[in-house]
Amino acid sequence: MNSLIPLGGADEIGASCFYLNINGTGILLDCGIHPRKKGKDALPKFDLLNDLPLDFAFISHAHQDHIGSLPFLIHQFPHTIIYSTPQTKEIAEITLHNAANIIVENFEQQDEYKIYTHEEIDLLVRSIRATGYNEIISLKGIRHNSQLPVNFSFYDAGHILGSAGILIEHNGQKIFYTGDINTGGQSIMIEADLGKIKNIDTLILESTYGGTDSGKIGVWQSEAKRFEAKANKILHNGGSILVPVFALGKTQEILSTIFSLMKSGSLTESIIYTGGIGKDISRVYDNNRFLVRRNRIELELHDIPQYNIYDIEDFNFFKKNPGIVLASSGMMLQGTTSYKLLDFWLRQESFGIFGVGYMDTDTPGYRVMASAKGELIQLSEIGEYHKVNCEIERFYFSSHSRREGLLEIVKQVNPKSVVLVHGDHKSKDWLGYQILEKYGHIKLHSAEPGKQIIIN
Ligand SMILES: [Zn+2]
Repeated sequence: MNSLIPLGGADEIGASCFYLNINGTGILLDCGIHPRKKGKDALPKFDLLNDLPLDFAFISHAHQDHIGSLPFLIHQFPHTIIYSTPQTKEIAEITLHNAANIIVENFEQQDEYKIYTHEEIDLLVRSIRATGYNEIISLKGIRHNSQLPVNFSFYDAGHILGSAGILIEHNGQKIFYTGDINTGGQSIMIEADLGKIKNIDTLILESTYGGTDSGKIGVWQSEAKRFEAKANKILHNGGSILVPVFALGKTQEILSTIFSLMKSGSLTESIIYTGGIGKDISRVYDNNRFLVRRNRIELELHDIPQYNIYDIEDFNFFKKNPGIVLASSGMMLQGTTSYKLLDFWLRQESFGIFGVGYMDTDTPGYRVMASAKGELIQLSEIGEYHKVNCEIERFYFSSHSRREGLLEIVKQVNPKSVVLVHGDHKSKDWLGYQILEKYGHIKLHSAEPGKQIIIN
């Protein structure tokens, strides 16, 4: 019997973690941490694993909500063998060390979960077994009940560098977990490569944009044109533009987009400000540029002239030296660089804040994007009011599939059953309804935290 238990990320974008039991072999698909929760609440429900076999963890990509709780898992279950793509492993080395500094603040009062050290992260990263796309690996867990092994492979998911959908096969049964997936192109990444994946028994499908009308999500090139027009207006008036971005993925994609617009002469040449781990991750993109499927192979992000944000102590510098500031975090979470710039930015008449990616409701970024020039806003429910003096513009440069793309995946892999994960109820409802209407024979499950699903 094969079964699935969502330990996190079932009905939200949070600590993605799904436990699979394949004939006695225990596998975790992802091991994420919730970016906005603190302490134990930010972790997947590891308690549910106590009496279950656990042998392997497959990591789909290096975003924190998919990898961030690996160090906690390894404290509790040190024998777990971890697999990822080589690129995910390389990025994880940067992001897990960076997260360790934040975790110390968020976990200090809770001794139930021991805080891990940088030395432990070094050991953990070294232990990750790197496996390239399309390679088939055969495994058996300690309590495996069959002569036949569990085979798995990573497939390029087109979301960020190293991202993978994961195919698991055992005894003729196929399970495909999309991870975060993009069927459309970006500036650097090209669309997911699912060519060989067909006739799946169980599809575990991300639902991020299931609830979002695709009219809202621009095609990359047309969003770039819109960005260019709005940015030119602000730069011509001597203003600077704050673009909150995730350090991993969005920083590199937007940097590449801005640079090519400037190079073509359509976007006013101005200073590009970057910094922090986004810059380190750009290095990994550069180092892997001949090793993965991507656009602009010749482009080295490191060669693009950039000014380090962290060298600037007095923010008035941005008035005298107008430019485009790529600062993490993407949702402007408290304590991050984009948040620290926010109060100053909101006060500047000639400046602009351009949202470019996904924002959870109730984050400061979401609140800013929902506002307009001249309004008063709070950055949190109990926060003080700020007057919005700068321009606010919202763009959609998506690293996730639009909802039609998600339905295309269903059509292509032709599954017998679908488990919807990684989305809110609205997103899962829309997708579920569409799937049942188009493919009545498909058995549909909506993942719920901790609730076991028998998958055959
Ligand atoms: Zn992701």
